[in-house]
Amino acid sequence: MKHINEDKIVGLIEKAKNVSARDIKAILEKSKLLKRLTLEETASLLAVKDEALIKKIFDAAWYVKDTIYGRRMVIFAPLYISNICSNNCLYCAFKSDNKLVERKALSLDEIKNEVELLLKKGHKRILLVAGEKDDNVSYYVDAIRAIYSVKIGKNYIRRVNINCAPLSVEDFKKIKAAGIGTYQLFQETYHDVTYRKVHPKGPKSDPDNRLDAVDRAFKAGIDDLGIGVLYGLYDYKFDTLALLSHIEYLEKTFGLGPHTISVPRIEPAFGSDFSKNVPYKISDSEFKKIIAILRLSVPYTGMILSTRESSGLRDELFSLGISQISAESKTSPGGYQEGRKDIASQFAISDERTLDEVVASLIKKDFIPSFCAACYRKERTGGTFMNLAKPGAIKDKCTINGIITFKEYLDDFASDEVKKNGNNLINRFKERLGRNDKALLEEYLKNIEQGARDEYI
Ligand code: SAM
Ligand code: SF4
Repeated sequence: MKHINEDKIVGLIEKAKNVSARDIKAILEKSKLLKRLTLEETASLLAVKDEALIKKIFDAAWYVKDTIYGRRMVIFAPLYISNICSNNCLYCAFKSDNKLVERKALSLDEIKNEVELLLKKGHKRILLVAGEKDDNVSYYVDAIRAIYSVKIGKNYIRRVNINCAPLSVEDFKKIKAAGIGTYQLFQETYHDVTYRKVHPKGPKSDPDNRLDAVDRAFKAGIDDLGIGVLYGLYDYKFDTLALLSHIEYLEKTFGLGPHTISVPRIEPAFGSDFSKNVPYKISDSEFKKIIAILRLSVPYTGMILSTRESSGLRDELFSLGISQISAESKTSPGGYQEGRKDIASQFAISDERTLDEVVASLIKKDFIPSFCAACYRKERTGGTFMNLAKPGAIKDKCTINGIITFKEYLDDFASDEVKKNGNNLINRFKERLGRNDKALLEEYLKNIEQGARDEYI
């Protein structure tokens, strides 16, 4: 696979087996200065087995996350618009060979209907998801416009991100012009032989075309990009280091790494035996280690966790480096309609809590549930965002904007209990701010109480 030197990665994993506790402590000290780690240093952290050292890795991950992003947790919902797909990814319910799944591409009215349901729950950020079809770009553009067009009172979707198949530079320009925030594309695995085995048919069977798509998106001017590994396909140490080599390549070529990293693990998918017999299954403790180490290795990159993971584990992972989560998700086209179970989901969801319940648990853990889309709308994207994130200067904006959007949620959607606890949380956080920030926030909160919406700094 392009940009990925498999022998080098295997060599680093081998060499790391001899790393000493002293070396690990020195790497963690470097991390605490918010410095990006090398592949070699990351390989060393991945080799750690000693429980006491793992605990130190976790503590360092929390320190880095808290210093850069603070205690806000951005919330979004996926919106599946189509499960029609010309690929045959062995792990996915939407694979073309799966005759058990009814195929459906939502009409624009159906998309708007889904958006209304999400808005009524309190969502403000959507991740549009679709299977792959040749002529999809005009459908994506129409879908993005349809999503932004829905208004319920003062509520509307403020940021649409998209996870769809690779496009040409021209087509990427079209979805950018339609107003997408982040373009997400997971390489699934960077191990060439495995990649080809699990993607036997369709355009996705070419790993280099998929890898190149991230370059094409950059070239089209999309500077917020999301990449990821589908954990379970191959050895997690290899894929984590390969993901980081991909990032090194992007940094060298475009002067900028990804905006976000996603860490999906394979979940059981209807009609996919493969997904029920995961070849490189990783345990929860390995998963926690991966997330903490990614946080240390690329300290300023956002990290996304979906409802594939259970509520208990998600709550733990918030403290290890995750900065964005989905909540109350459905993974089938039309899935937000009450009682609709006729269209199969892409994979099983573990965290089935409502948005209000997820918000309640964030409050309990002293995190600010955030629906913020300010950076994208203030053109703080790509390098501009990273220049603020790297020294930890985005934190103040995130905290204030997070609280503003949280207050809107409390006033418009929250249950009584969440409202009470949420307002207490806001008061606690207000006291932690400096004098100027506190005065600024108080002004915004007053505006919200008087009916203003969608204000941000
Ligand atoms: N079709 C496009 C593609 O494959 O890139 C975009 C949408 S696809 C629905 C989004 C992601 O879902 C894939 O990149 C893959 O990582 C993930 N996925 C597919 N099957 C899965 C499963 N059984 N468990 C967890 N994640 C899965
Ligand atoms: Fe299609 Fe994406 Fe599923 Fe593969 S992962 S079958 S490309 S929807």
